[in-house]
Amino acid sequence: MSSSAKIPARRPAKTASKTASKAVAPAKLGLRQTRQRGVIAAILEAAPGPLTIPEIHQQALKAQPGSNVGIATVYRTLNLLVENRRAQLVILPSGDTRYEAAGHKGHHDHFQCKTCGKVFDIDACLLGLAHGAILPGGYRVEGHELTLTGQCPDCAAKPVKRMR
Ligand SMILES: [Zn+2]
Ligand SMILES: [Zn+2]
Repeated sequence: MSSSAKIPARRPAKTASKTASKAVAPAKLGLRQTRQRGVIAAILEAAPGPLTIPEIHQQALKAQPGSNVGIATVYRTLNLLVENRRAQLVILPSGDTRYEAAGHKGHHDHFQCKTCGKVFDIDACLLGLAHGAILPGGYRVEGHELTLTGQCPDCAAKPVKRMR
């Protein structure tokens, strides 16, 4: 009864494509999406610190004169970049939600100017606390996010209007 093994010897070379979204004109949409992703990833990588969505939107418009990229597209693109680990969300103690390029800088802390609100990457870690350090009470440190506040160089250089 053993009609000898009819086990397929080969597996299909390609697993069925799960990216066949036939519903929407994929070519055009895909191309524009890819382009936006590149533009926004480049903006994040060139930024001196994490940016807000409106800031990213402004820069995306500037980078593509004549285009009218909407803020919804920027938002969607950022989500995709986060999914692909090319960007990460930064939530500051002020509640400010920003995005920065992921990975390429390693650990760094942030500085937020109290006057202009801009946020800068501080390229040195100011907290000399080793990973794995044990704090009094037995808390084992695995990381930290530090946001310093004060005046950025530009704002510090401006004459201070002080009441006397
Ligand atoms: Zn400032
Ligand atoms: Zn640090």
